Amino acid sequence: MKLSQSFTKTTKTAPADEASRSAKYLLRAGYIYKEMAGVYDYLPLGMRTLEKIIQIIREEMNAIGSEELRLTALQPKDVWEATDRWSDDVMDVWFKTKLNAGGELGLAPTHEEPLTHVMKSYISSYKDLPVYAYQFQTKFRNELRAKSGIMRTREFMMKDLYSFSKNREEHDVFYEKCADSYKKIFNRLGIGNDTFRTFASGGAFSKYSDEFQTLCEVGEDIIYLDREKGIAVNEEVYNDEVLADLGLDKSKLEQCKAAEVGNIFTLGYRFSDALDLCYNDEDGKRQKVFMGSYGIGPSRVMGVIAEKLSDDKGLIWPEEIAPYKYYIVGIGEKGEEMAAKLHDMAPEDIILDDRKNARTGEKFADAELMGIPYRVVISDKTLADNKVELKNRKTDETKLLTLDEFTSKLA
Ligand code: ATP
Ligand code: MG
Repeated sequence: MKLSQSFTKTTKTAPADEASRSAKYLLRAGYIYKEMAGVYDYLPLGMRTLEKIIQIIREEMNAIGSEELRLTALQPKDVWEATDRWSDDVMDVWFKTKLNAGGELGLAPTHEEPLTHVMKSYISSYKDLPVYAYQFQTKFRNELRAKSGIMRTREFMMKDLYSFSKNREEHDVFYEKCADSYKKIFNRLGIGNDTFRTFASGGAFSKYSDEFQTLCEVGEDIIYLDREKGIAVNEEVYNDEVLADLGLDKSKLEQCKAAEVGNIFTLGYRFSDALDLCYNDEDGKRQKVFMGSYGIGPSRVMGVIAEKLSDDKGLIWPEEIAPYKYYIVGIGEKGEEMAAKLHDMAPEDIILDDRKNARTGEKFADAELMGIPYRVVISDKTLADNKVELKNRKTDETKLLTLDEFTSKLA
């Protein structure tokens, strides 16, 4: 990527109404653009980071044997009436609209109903089960308060997986498998050490649901964390009875602010009952399908990472999700020439700052604001020794590499 050819620009200030550090940096560095409160565009850099987060989640979802699909955002009313979730009194985050041809539509805030309805066409026998299907899709929610930039928005990306099992036993096995895969995902995303499985309120079919909460000062949840055991309890279910049930010792719990990055939920027969999703078992008896739902918010995750992994100069992306790995600045005629040559060897890994109108100091500041893992400087001076200077954004360490050493990293 050549900065001289990119339309985005960094800015010195962020909109006055943005309070969180992640929103300020993401806006200033040109990752996102604010359309209105709670609604953001993903610009080329932001799009790349979001896609990398999505790809990590996708790989882990595929690894547990689930299939990717994509459902529609536009939703007919009748399917949601069948589960009693069309009413704004029951589901208070609906965005609804009218068809010119007559009738009402909704923009899906979640997808239990539509996928359950789809499965009626594909599940009829025990041989068809279990089914694990997921998607990455835009959700629309008329949240009362948008907050912390992309951490709580009215239009956002969600990974939602739904499981369809023969019975509770089959469900429970997959539920734990998915919980394990969430741990892997948050480890790969660089927030594993600060993300905890958290007991939260359940429903008619299980005492608790499991949230994945990441410690974060601007998070909206309060959790009580047992660091030794690596588990937590959400404030919403925190009481003596629950602690006893979970074998947690009150004196060992830390009260922390956290952001919910994912959650898993036993739905049981809530939706299969209402929409009549059944199968014939081995004895030819009609049985209801047992369901679960498993969400992660890649856009909220991106906000949380930006919030936590940043300093007073800007963002600090983990290598796995940085939009580019290297930010190259050439100084002097020969340095610029070599910088361009290196860029062309690996344009997918490199931002080349070839802007004519920016001073070197500004380029360095932008590299830090954007949070690119390595800044690479090539000047006539480094070239005299056939070397480039590599600076690590996270540790601030600088080292000299020979051109060969650097190009072999690219290959
Ligand atoms: P919250 O309690 O934060 O409103 P939720 O319980 O409504 O979350 P789910 O409906 O289970 O969340 O959605 C799954 C995931 O989608 C959440 O864990 C979160 O990561 C993400 N998410 C939910 N609402 C938003 C939002 N308004 N903006 C961005 N991401 C969101
Ligand atoms: Mg919500």
